[in-house]
Amino acid sequence: MNTIYFSGIIQAMPLLYYWRGDNYKKDIELGAGYHLNQANPALHDISAGESLWAFTRRLEDGAYVMAAELVAIYKTLNPAGYQYGRYRLWGDLNLSRYFAVESQPDISVLVRSLAIPARGNALGQAFQGLAAVRRISCNDDKILRKYAEGLSLEPRAKLLPEEQLEALLLAGDTNAIEKLIREQPVGVAEERSQYLINQAVDRNRQFSECLRDTYQGRCQICGWAPREIYGKDVCEAHHVRWLSRGGEDQLSNIVLICPNHHRAIHRLDAAFDWEVMGFRFNQNVEPLQLMDHLLQAS
Ligand SMILES: [Zn+2]
Ligand SMILES: [Zn+2]
Repeated sequence: MNTIYFSGIIQAMPLLYYWRGDNYKKDIELGAGYHLNQANPALHDISAGESLWAFTRRLEDGAYVMAAELVAIYKTLNPAGYQYGRYRLWGDLNLSRYFAVESQPDISVLVRSLAIPARGNALGQAFQGLAAVRRISCNDDKILRKYAEGLSLEPRAKLLPEEQLEALLLAGDTNAIEKLIREQPVGVAEERSQYLINQAVDRNRQFSECLRDTYQGRCQICGWAPREIYGKDVCEAHHVRWLSRGGEDQLSNIVLICPNHHRAIHRLDAAFDWEVMGFRFNQNVEPLQLMDHLLQAS
């Protein structure tokens, strides 16, 4: 994540990414993830604060359109053999944006005008496999930024307030969860909304109980043991991949952590790094000290 200095000039490495239409659709419908995975290490050539421009192919008519600008905040590694590749890039939630794709004109000509090779009849073919991610020049970055000025944002990419959702799940307040979901025009598909409202409450309470049994109520990061100190459980269940960002409602996506760590993770939008099995907070990494249940990358 270090900025690279070259002859006294900051060498920026913004990226252009071709996001397969079906994967983009899944992302937007399950809760915009604000991160991308790739098998190509070039995904990590970007520095913090630089932009990855993602374009996709609209499934309805095959047009190429601008899908998102992720402003890099964290770079992490996925477990070996992870189906979507070893490299993960996280967008800053405050600066990154998803664009509405329905009304956009085709951007093939614009993409072909950039200083990167994109030969072949179909643009998608030039961006297949490892070629899906490309470094672009600062000038190309400027061209794409200028183009994006005229685009409207995708309303479904607005995230649910995750901490609030988790707290309501834990409290078992079904009415409040329904209200939270219904009141916000967010990227939660109807099926997922129904699931959160109707089933997630019971499941999440079961999961929390299960983790509290496994860890005797301790924080998996710092080992803080409120049960020993106060005779009460204070630690909370946290979804490693947030529910509002497409995370699975599964025990394999949940850790038990103290309220301090929980607040810090959400405030700093800390990313989970599978290489170190821990959370990345700006420059710090805090690995899980207690790990007695199976976590799975999603
Ligand atoms: Zn803790
Ligand atoms: Zn959480």
